[in-house]
Amino acid sequence: MNEVILCPEGLRARSEPLWLDARRKTPLSFVSHAHADHIGRHVEAIGTAPTLALMSQRLRGARTRPRALEYGKPIRLGSLTVELFPAGHILGSAQIRITRDGHRTVYTGDLNTARARTAEPLEVVPCDTLVIESTFGEPRYRFPPREEVVERMAAFAELALAEGRVPVFVAYALGKAQEATRILGERGFRVKVHPEAWVCCEIYESFGVRFPGASRLDGPPASGEVVVTTPRGRFGASLGRRVRTCYLSGWAVDPGIRYRMGVDEALPLSDHADFDGLVEYARATGAGEVLTTHGSAERLARELRARGIAARALVPSPQLELF
Ligand SMILES: [Zn+2]
Repeated sequence: MNEVILCPEGLRARSEPLWLDARRKTPLSFVSHAHADHIGRHVEAIGTAPTLALMSQRLRGARTRPRALEYGKPIRLGSLTVELFPAGHILGSAQIRITRDGHRTVYTGDLNTARARTAEPLEVVPCDTLVIESTFGEPRYRFPPREEVVERMAAFAELALAEGRVPVFVAYALGKAQEATRILGERGFRVKVHPEAWVCCEIYESFGVRFPGASRLDGPPASGEVVVTTPRGRFGASLGRRVRTCYLSGWAVDPGIRYRMGVDEALPLSDHADFDGLVEYARATGAGEVLTTHGSAERLARELRARGIAARALVPSPQLELF
C-alpha cells in the first residue's frame, strides 16, 4: 500500500511517525533539501549531511537533532526501510524511498533531470508509488538544453563588460547562486558573490565543491568583475548605475518576467525539471501509481493520465462550503 499520505501538517508516512519536508515542528521529519519551504525546527531531522548543514545555517538557533544518511544506505525506522537517493536539485538534495511489506513509495522532493555542476546527479529510483513535485508541471514549461543557457549567460556577461557595465546575475541564494557562480568561474570570469549567497558557497566548499575565480562581494565590484546576487541583495549592494541585470530562473520562460522582476534579461537556468523531465522521470521509475504534489499538481496529473500513467494530485480536498 502507498506509504505517503497528506495530513494537516503536510506529507507523512502512514505507518510510522515520519513526516516529509514538514514546515511545522514534528518529532521526526525527512528534509529533502534546505530550501525555506522544505525545512522546519523539528526535534529530529533525517537528510544528507549537506542538507542538514545548510538547514542549520538557515535556521540558526534551532535545536534539531541531525541524523545524516548517505545516499544508497538503507536504515530501518520501525516497520519501514528508508533510503535516500540524489535528486539533482541542489547540493545534498535527496529523494526518499520508503519500503513497507514490499511496497516501495518514493517521495522526490524537488528534482532536476538536467545535469548541474554543483549538485549530485539525479538517480532514477524504481518504485511502485511515486510522489513527485510538479513545480513546472505544465507543457509550456520547456527549457532549452543547459549548455545553451550557459552560452547565453556568458554572452550576456561579455556584452555588458564590453559596454563598460557590471553584469549582475540575480539568483536565489541557495542552489542557483552557487550554480551560476561555478558556471561563470569556469568560463573565466572573475565573480563577486553577495554575502547572503557566499555563506552557502562556503558550506558547499566544505563538502568539496569548488568555485574557481569567485570571492565574496565586499564593496563595489572592480572593472571586469561579474556579480552574482540574490533577489533581496540586488537592492542593498552599492553596484552603482552602470549595471546590466539578468534573472536566472525556470520562470524566465514566462512572458513578462523581465518587467515583473525589473531586470534587463531573464534566462531559464532552472534547478527544477521541466515538464518533459517530470513526465520522463515518472515513466522511468516504472511506478504503477503517481501522486503529484507542490505547484501544478492537478495539471501534471492530468497530463500523465493522458499519457497512460495512473496519476492523481495529492492536494488537500476542497473544504465543504457551509452556509
Ligand atoms: Zn527547492
